[in-house]
Amino acid sequence: MNPSGAIAIVTGGGSGLGEATARALAAKGARVAIADVGMDKALKVAEDLGGIAVKCDVSSAEDGDALLATVTGKLGTPRILVNCAGIVAGMKTVGKDGPHSLDLYRKVIEINLIGSFNMIRLFAAAASAGDPLEGGERGVIVNTASVAAFDGQMGQAAYSASKGGIVGMTLPIARDLARSGIRVCTIAPGIFKTPMMAGLPEDAQASLGAQVPFPPRLGEPAEYAALVCHIVENQMLNGETIRLDGAIRMAP
Ligand code: NAD
Repeated sequence: MNPSGAIAIVTGGGSGLGEATARALAAKGARVAIADVGMDKALKVAEDLGGIAVKCDVSSAEDGDALLATVTGKLGTPRILVNCAGIVAGMKTVGKDGPHSLDLYRKVIEINLIGSFNMIRLFAAAASAGDPLEGGERGVIVNTASVAAFDGQMGQAAYSASKGGIVGMTLPIARDLARSGIRVCTIAPGIFKTPMMAGLPEDAQASLGAQVPFPPRLGEPAEYAALVCHIVENQMLNGETIRLDGAIRMAP
């Protein structure tokens, strides 16, 4: 799909990978709606891009309905959805520190996995109602998993499960939505320089970067955004999960 003139929803677009994606899509001429729980940064990004910001908890059915109604009413039929909203749970080992809290496990699954599904189902309904574009295409969805979906690390059961769920649902949903002309792909990033990583001390960030085979550094959000744009533009990419990680395999 040509992003120029297309209406794009970027969840978590107020920060990090989502912000970079919103900026990259806007630079290619897309009209962007930022959906985020944190409105200060979302409003700033939207203002910079001449787009809109909508307060939305991705895991809420009501917020999702309101988001799609606002975007459709103010901008028109959405054609691109980028699911970037997500949280990390910190390192919580199972057993060693006592039982893992079910509340924390549920929260991570609720936002990262169910939140992505919630946005997909609502976006798909709205995009399906649009006229077909070139080649019969009506929409493109890009989800954000993580290498944690594949490289299980201690203390990351909830986060890895949430991201593994996103990888697992990518192909079936791509097949479900194929008849509507909507493609679905997922990016599994390695370690990127975003506010999510800012909690780690500088030396820990540097040593993580040094573990990347090539390039031996942390990823830049713009590199993630460039892959989103490529997926949007390349109609043959569908149902795929792409690792974007400099060939790192996380140590246990
Ligand atoms: P970030 O913390 O900078 O941005 C996340 C954004 O999501 C924030 O603006 C936050 O307000 C928003 N958000 C959180 N919960 C939300 C909710 N319930 N509803 C709507 N918005 C919500 O993080 P980031 O590093 O840009 O991460 C973006 C995505 O990439 C996440 O899904 C994360 O798991 C994934 N990821 C990041 C890295 C990395 O190294 N940074 C690596 C792998 C995967």
